[in-house]
Amino acid sequence: MLTTTVPEAPPTRVLHVDGDTFFASCEIAMDASLSGRPVWVGGGRTGDGIVIAANRLAKRYGIGAGTACFEARRLCPHGVLARPHYDDYRRISREMFRVMESYTPTLLPASIDEGFLDLTAMERYVWRGRGAVGYVNRLRAEIESAVGVPVSAGLGASMWAAKLATSAAKPGFCEIPVGGEREFLADRPVDELAGCGGRRTRALAALGAHTFGDVASMPSILLCKSFGIWGQQLWLFARGEWTEPVVVEEKDRTTISSNTTLPVDEPDYDAGLIFLLSEAARLTGQMRREGLQTRESFVSIRFSDFERTCCQHRFRHPQFRNSVISGVIEQLYWESMRGAHKPIRQICLGFSSLERLDTQPMLWGSTDAGRWGAIDDALQVIEQRFGENTVMTGAQFALKKQNDFFEVPPAKCPFGPREASPAGPVRIDPKKARH
Ligand SMILES: [Mg+2]
Repeated sequence: MLTTTVPEAPPTRVLHVDGDTFFASCEIAMDASLSGRPVWVGGGRTGDGIVIAANRLAKRYGIGAGTACFEARRLCPHGVLARPHYDDYRRISREMFRVMESYTPTLLPASIDEGFLDLTAMERYVWRGRGAVGYVNRLRAEIESAVGVPVSAGLGASMWAAKLATSAAKPGFCEIPVGGEREFLADRPVDELAGCGGRRTRALAALGAHTFGDVASMPSILLCKSFGIWGQQLWLFARGEWTEPVVVEEKDRTTISSNTTLPVDEPDYDAGLIFLLSEAARLTGQMRREGLQTRESFVSIRFSDFERTCCQHRFRHPQFRNSVISGVIEQLYWESMRGAHKPIRQICLGFSSLERLDTQPMLWGSTDAGRWGAIDDALQVIEQRFGENTVMTGAQFALKKQNDFFEVPPAKCPFGPREASPAGPVRIDPKKARH
């Protein structure tokens, strides 16, 4: 009789990759003169807000997320405050994930600088006894040379374990060997686990559990009673019996929006419109790339005195064409601004009730709408081929010119660093208040 042996399933191996002090590292990657210096990113609107990220050198001075910028300057007078450039962070993040994708077929992004990679089959088919260290360090080196941002990594039997291994490694790489979870976790405090916040930590402490070792030696029923399924998972995890493969769920988003506080209160309503239309083009492009279209859109403006106005529109049919959407957004904007006279503080734009885009765009239409649609499609193809922002809409171009003139970085900080205009009546061109 012929017998075949089915090979045992390999143990689950999950790699967590995380950018080191990501925003600060991006700033250093973009400006080599910052290298080797304490750098923190933040400052808010006027440069005196709070720090949102600080590099390792700055952390030595006690500067971290949440520190006030004036305090950071006092703690470290020779350090550098970098204003945030979110568009560049997004671009660097995309490049970073592109490198990760080439190392695994299953990648689950967790945040702008964090992702989980399924490396379960690697030992059997790729590493073949050579171990993970060389492979993972090659991935880390490739990310650093491609985008200039150092990353740390952790390898374990589940996403929970991999993330803890990364924190233990920072900066560097840490592998929890197969079956080594219980020993690795034993002395670690439970609050290191993502999802174990203040309330759960206090409840566990009340049961006498401070470390994973304490949890492992408790009866599971006690944890189930207090925390339900999460308690059971925690108990299995602490005992090194929790494995969890990386599952990539394809979930469509239902809304997409942008909310920007301008660097200075903007009295020029035309400038506000240019920024809004440029954002509309960016978000529409994003929807197209994700294969989505919108049914509803809204524009919300907050004025210098925090008063807010909002207008929305429901399209008759789901819409994805920038040419159509821009027209509606412009109308909504002027509707929101009707009778307004105060400078603009914040501009918010959103598209909701997103649906899958399943139309097959036609080549050249015979109607006006069809021709506009064909132009939109052609732009999309050019963008896919040559990258984002290869082709600009009029609004994006106008915004860029304005930013170049004032020498400010692109997007997020849409207008030039002018003196905040003194409070007072703002002249509105009647032509522009026509809507
Ligand atoms: Mg990070």
